[in-house]
Amino acid sequence: MARRAITKVAILGGGPSGSAAATYLARAGVNVALFTRGKRPPIIVGESLVPAIVPYLRKLGVEKEVATYSQFKGGATFIFSLEDGMSFKFHEVPSAKTTYSYNVPRDRFDDTLLQAAKKAGAHQIEHSVGLESDDGEHLRLDDASLEAARPALGGKPDWIIDATGRTRLIARFLDLPTTVGARKDVALHAHLENVPMEIPGNVHTDRLEHGWSWRIPLRDCVSVGLVIGSEFIRKFGQTAEEQFDAYLQADANTREWSKDAKRITPVMRYTNYQLRTERGFGPNWSLVGDAFGFVDPVFSSGMLIGMQGSEALAAALLNGSDRAMEKYQEYVLRNLTVWQRVADYYYNGRLLTMFRVGEYVRHTRIGRMMDFHFRRHMPRIFTGEGTTKRYSMGLVDFMCRHGLAGNDPAELEIR
Ligand SMILES: Cc1cc2nc3c(=O)[nH]c(=O)nc-3n(C[C@H](O)[C@H](O)[C@H](O)COP(=O)(O)OP(=O)(O)OC[C@H]3O[C@@H](n4cnc5c(N)ncnc54)[C@H](O)[C@@H]3O)c2cc1C
Repeated sequence: MARRAITKVAILGGGPSGSAAATYLARAGVNVALFTRGKRPPIIVGESLVPAIVPYLRKLGVEKEVATYSQFKGGATFIFSLEDGMSFKFHEVPSAKTTYSYNVPRDRFDDTLLQAAKKAGAHQIEHSVGLESDDGEHLRLDDASLEAARPALGGKPDWIIDATGRTRLIARFLDLPTTVGARKDVALHAHLENVPMEIPGNVHTDRLEHGWSWRIPLRDCVSVGLVIGSEFIRKFGQTAEEQFDAYLQADANTREWSKDAKRITPVMRYTNYQLRTERGFGPNWSLVGDAFGFVDPVFSSGMLIGMQGSEALAAALLNGSDRAMEKYQEYVLRNLTVWQRVADYYYNGRLLTMFRVGEYVRHTRIGRMMDFHFRRHMPRIFTGEGTTKRYSMGLVDFMCRHGLAGNDPAELEIR
């Protein structure tokens, strides 16, 4: 089998996926030019990390530093309605390998990962990168980008990695086949002070009259996101700020916890984010992180998929064979498919109905017998440790389809 020897790589985008890939490759002796773009939005989504990400922080050598400015996250709370909800603690999940995680301020977190990449030997190139191609298949950096990278690479890169997030530079440039998700939601995101939490540190996911919201406690404020149908939210104002502020007061659930809150940032709007590219590599390029695909914010899977993908991509490139690249592509597409299924169960009400039934059944004799087994597998889906495990995910599939004890999932669907 033919293998490429890759010695010079250009990575486009210095977010978590780009920096992580840069660290792994630079450590292996590859000459890496990591293109970053200086201008950043005031706040960035992707603040709640699932526990399965922690081993990657250790591998990258950054966990200790991340812990100094992040909020310790011990579990997750799902609120179904004003009267009803459930929480679980990561350390109570039998067989969990990691029993905690962090909520991170993205500006500092991204900087920590970028510094780790530079420490490993990657060269940061502050330049908004552009691409060219003669045949619509092989890519090269445009002249200005090549010039910017020349001191680092000394010439053309052997390989180009797109880690530009939702900019999706290569997918757009090559018009790669893309699948768009069914939800047409908008996510409105801001930081607030004085937002109460039921369980400190936990990420809180509230089902609303329309859509759902997240509350992610950070050290000095709470990140709040409203995820609502893009048509529906227009009734609440023209600007993102008007819509966010008005909806917080309009919905009985958010009104409850936002009455004394003060918004301390502008409101960022995200649309059309359920997107995956069906092809992850070409003759001299590959995609990683959100530039490859993003499922949905509901279970905080994005950063984990990015971290897992970065490590797997670096290994595939070091291997150098097409088969290794194919396996990388299959791996990421499988991850995206499985997380999409879990998100779908949340939106169609099956997951919350299953939780509710589980809380009730737990107090019956048969329920007590089954409880340990369920607790061993179900929460591991949400910690990220069991999502790609066939048995754990199979159990969730089975219970979401057949274990609702006659309850109508439509009662808890997300409108
Ligand atoms: C509403 C919403 C909520 C979310 N909440 C969570 C959450 O709580 N937890 C979680 O794990 N995930 C969450 N995610 C997903 C998470 O934000 C992403 O998965 C994560 O940021 C992906 O990292 P990345 O490095 O692939 O891309 P990004 O973080 O987007 O980084 C891409 C980088 O590329 C740079 N770039 C772009 N174009 C160029 C260019 N031409 N030249 C140079 N640089 C360029 C950008 O400036 C940026 O720094 C959320 C996503 C959304 C939409």
